[in-house]
Formats: sequence, structure tokens, C-alpha cells
Amino acid sequence: MKWPAMGYARVDSLDGLWRALDAAGPEAQILAGGQSLLATLSFRLSEPSGLIDITRIASLKGIGVTEAALRIGALTRHADLARDPLVARHAPLLAQAAPLIAHPAIRNRGTIGGSLALADPAAELPACVVALGATIVLASRSGERRVAASDFFKGLFTTDLEPGEIVVAVEVPVATAASRQTIVEVTRRSGDYAMAGLAAVLSIQADGGVADCRLVFFGVGSGAEIAQAASAALIGQQLSDASIAAAKAALADDLDPPSDLHGGPELKRHLAGVLLARALRPFLARSEQAA
Ligand code: FAD
Repeated sequence: MKWPAMGYARVDSLDGLWRALDAAGPEAQILAGGQSLLATLSFRLSEPSGLIDITRIASLKGIGVTEAALRIGALTRHADLARDPLVARHAPLLAQAAPLIAHPAIRNRGTIGGSLALADPAAELPACVVALGATIVLASRSGERRVAASDFFKGLFTTDLEPGEIVVAVEVPVATAASRQTIVEVTRRSGDYAMAGLAAVLSIQADGGVADCRLVFFGVGSGAEIAQAASAALIGQQLSDASIAAAKAALADDLDPPSDLHGGPELKRHLAGVLLARALRPFLARSEQAA
């Protein structure tokens, strides 16, 4: 299908963006990587009055370390997350997640800001930033505000973004020596959206005790689903087959998956349990893994 008729403006600064948003009206949409938005135009699922292309705004680009956080500009492409040495060192979860997103052509255009703003319930990056305890940096004509990732996602394709506001960056606390980060998922074909997935961030002490744990599922609900009960079942325990089994059992209190094109709630619950064990077993002490 052909796109609807609409205006197009390309801006190279935030001031230019605010002016373009005023001129284009409330129905205008931001264009970043275009990997989701352009498909919705083709299907006439969205008919914006105009597209405002932000890809030349330099202040939305780049990855750097500030104080205790890794700051990732909103225009950072998925492919950059996969190969950037700062991401690999300070937020390895994001480096692991990026190659799981779609295919190389999409990873070369799609951006972290676009993925977070879209809030697809089966997307990897929203779950990762919640698991990492990241902060989403937003900006509008009135200035910047910061929102905890766990408060940013409000449900199916819904976020805390206000009209006239954009994602400018994500700030991720840098990984400590005790930090263990992993992402696992089940897909029908390589590159598909996940049927179910799990982003896990744990802090494990030298004696194997779990000091902190955030298990965040995707593809099993209306967004990034924090498994509070399963995480609590591990905190303060030694990581062992027994504590992993207790966390699996606790998932019954955490997840209430709806049916989707991949299957019903029972299948999703089963996959979540399998993924939990698959994610955590590699962090067991070597002696337990061999058992
Ligand atoms: P765009 O398409 O440009 O924009 C998406 C939405 O976000 C629009 O509403 C836009 O206005 C808004 N927006 C963009 N940037 C900002 C910003 N900085 N601030 C505020 N609003 C903004 N994603 C996955 O996570 N996992 C997958 O497995 C996966 N598979 C895919 C398979 C296919 C075939 C395709 C086409 C896409 C897939 N995607 C997948 C989506 C892909 O990752 C997108 O790139 C991403 O979700 C959106 O990023 P974008 O930069 O392309 O955003």
C-alpha cells in the first residue's frame, strides 16, 4: 500500500525540532531509524500530518561514560550497541541483546530511542533497560526530565512520553565486578520477535550469595514484565539448583500471559520457566553445573 500524503522536515538541532513540531502540528511523528514507523505508514496503521527526521541531531548520538553511568544517545543504532567496546564493558546485557533484534539490515537503521519509544511488548531493549535499572532521559521545549525505566513503560505500546517530548538518551549504571547479565529468548525463526524472553541482571557475591536480582520478561505480557516474586526468591540465597527451582515456582505469582499468535498462557508460562533456568544455570558455581 502507498503511504498517506504528509509533510517531511529534517532538523539538525533540538531547537530546530521544537520549531518543526510547532509547525507540523500535534499529529506529526518523529522519524528515527524508520524500521517500525515506515511499516505502519505502508499499512496505513498511522497517518501522521508530517514526519520530522531527527537523524542529523548530533546531540542525540554517541556513547560515553559519565560518573557512574554509561550514557547512550537515543540515535544509537542496534548494530552499534553490538560492537561498541564501552557497551560491552559497562552494560554487557545490551551488547548481548542487540544481535537478537531482527536482521542486520534492521539493526543497521533501528535505534535504541525508537525501540524504547515504541514499547513493543516483545522487544528486547525495553526489558534490558528495566533489568539494568536504567534512567530514560527525555527532553521537550521546557527542558529535560529523567524517568526510571521501570516507570517509563506504561503498558502495550505506551510510555510516559508526553506530547512534544522525545527520548534523548539512556543512562545505565555501570556493571560492577559482582554483576552478572544475560538475555535469553525463544523465537520461531532467527530474527523474529521473541515468543518469550528474559533479561536478567544479578549481583552475585564471591561466596555465591545473590545480593540483588532483577528478572524482566518480554513477549509474555503487555510490556517489560518484572518478575518480582521470582527475583525475591533468589535475593539473599545461594545461587543453586534449589534456589533456581524456587524462583521458577514463584513465577506463577508474577506472570499472567495473554494469548497471542505464538500460543496461549500455558505455553508462555512453560517457556518463562525454561528461560529462567537457562539464564541462571551458567552463573552456578562450576561444581553445581557439573552435578
Ligand atoms: P522508528 O521506526 O523511526 O520510530 C518508531 C516510533 O518511535 C515512532 O512512533 C517514532 O515517532 C518514535 N520515536 C523514534 N525515536 C524517538 C525518540 N528518540 N523519541 C521519541 N519518539 C521516538 N525490534 C525488536 O526489539 N526485536 C525484534 O526482534 C525486532 N524485529 C523486527 C523485525 C522486522 C521485520 C522489523 C521491520 C522491525 C523489527 N523490530 C524489532 C523493530 C526495530 O528494532 C525498530 O528499529 C525499533 O523498534 C524502532 O526503532 P526505529 O529507530 O526504527 O524507530
